[in-house]
Amino acid sequence: MNLECGVVLPRMGRIMYNPKSNKAEEFICHDEVLASLAFAKANKNNLELINKILDKAKLGKGLTHREAAVLLDCEIEEKNQEIFELAQKIKQDYYGNRIVLFAPLYLSNYCVNGCVYCPYHAQNKHIPRKKMTQEEIKEEVIALQDMGHKRLAIETGEDPVNNPIEYVLESLKTIYSIHHKNGAIRRANVNIAATTVENYRKLKEAGIGTYILFQETYNKKSYEQLHPTGPKHNYAYHTEAMDRAMTGGIDDVGLGVLFGLEGYRYEFSALLMHAEHLEAAFGVGPHTISVPRIKRADDINPDDFDNGIDDDIFAKIIACIRIAVPYTGMIISTRESDKCRERVLKLGISQISGGSKTSVGGYAHPENEKEDEETAQFDVSDRRSLDEVVKWLMGLGYVPSFCTACYREGRVGDRFMAICKEQQIHNFCHPNAIMTLKEYLEDYASDETKKIGEELIQKELATLENQKIECAVEKNLVSIENGQRDFRF
Ligand code: SAM
Repeated sequence: MNLECGVVLPRMGRIMYNPKSNKAEEFICHDEVLASLAFAKANKNNLELINKILDKAKLGKGLTHREAAVLLDCEIEEKNQEIFELAQKIKQDYYGNRIVLFAPLYLSNYCVNGCVYCPYHAQNKHIPRKKMTQEEIKEEVIALQDMGHKRLAIETGEDPVNNPIEYVLESLKTIYSIHHKNGAIRRANVNIAATTVENYRKLKEAGIGTYILFQETYNKKSYEQLHPTGPKHNYAYHTEAMDRAMTGGIDDVGLGVLFGLEGYRYEFSALLMHAEHLEAAFGVGPHTISVPRIKRADDINPDDFDNGIDDDIFAKIIACIRIAVPYTGMIISTRESDKCRERVLKLGISQISGGSKTSVGGYAHPENEKEDEETAQFDVSDRRSLDEVVKWLMGLGYVPSFCTACYREGRVGDRFMAICKEQQIHNFCHPNAIMTLKEYLEDYASDETKKIGEELIQKELATLENQKIECAVEKNLVSIENGQRDFRF
């Protein structure tokens, strides 16, 4: 039984799988994906092989895409139970009970692409188009800071005339410059269309955190059909974007597929091949993986897409990604309901958005509900406020974290991965989570959330293993009560 990938010489004219290649069709090799799917299907009840893969997974060093594909397809009830338990254990070992919080900030919904699943597509003539001025961005950021957010994901449609790189750079400058009361945006991740090495270099210089770009689908044929017009039609340019981002000096990149567009098994294997490629070509895998599912939106009906996945499959995908790439953070947005989020948090999710608006200008003027709905990118399922989300997380035993320290202390890219792979990240993240939660409680929490939070902090302090760190955190907590901010390890 050979689990090695790409060992079977392909037939004439076929493309060989090569994770080190810089060509999209070689590192996301269609034949290799199909071979992995066939292998997984043939072995979904192969107890001996599944046990072997699980034994390897228990070492906590990850799996190949082909091994992970077998676990995803596994039909043996008790082994599936073991998969979920292992995912939970790995989640706990690498990320503890911390959940990092962020919010998306939509700058502009102008878009020249024709993505058939997205209401921002250029053919949509009735959706109001909006691009925020710097003054409007300032208002949005103040509203986000007043909620308690420290970390944003910046989003725009693709439009070289309306949303050129200069606009994104100017907006980043505005975002980082605002300090309202005790507020600050300390990390701005950026989710904008695939661009050039030169532009990625500029984003790096502007101090972005992670560059996020969803592949949408890795299947080239489907990709081209789903993106019939606009620059995004170019599969290779889109798929090779992370290579250009890393060449441009960006340390942390975030992958994702939009589940529902193509068969989930295909996406799962290809997504992991993409992670393998980054590791092989740049020595560092993706910083995060997002798992969005297609949602209802202005002129978009998710039922028009044949590949929707139910909550059970969704949970299994998340568990198997957690096992396959233990050191990669996993993100889930408010596309998902609180019930669904609760279920998958323990299986591997390390970051969630809270209190989100997917419209342009939705935070500062919530009273403009109609406009908000008209410019929203998709329907949000979890509509709770950030305070409610924080309280809910604590009730489930998690420590909500507003930490942005790693990136600001230079623990990025391969340095971050090295610490994470050694399971040392806990030593930084846990004290930082406690201190940033304390800031949130002091500045933004409701009375009830504050009460629960203070009790949680006392409980979590007792879990810090290093006494020196515990003493420093206790001292900093007093300083936070006295008005000082931004302590970090
Ligand atoms: N414009 C950028 C690009 O071209 O990649 C990305 C920004 S877009 C605002 C963020 C993501 O929203 C897209 O990559 C897509 O995966 C997701 N999205 C689009 N339409 C959606 C829908 N109807 N439901 C859920 N997610 C959607």
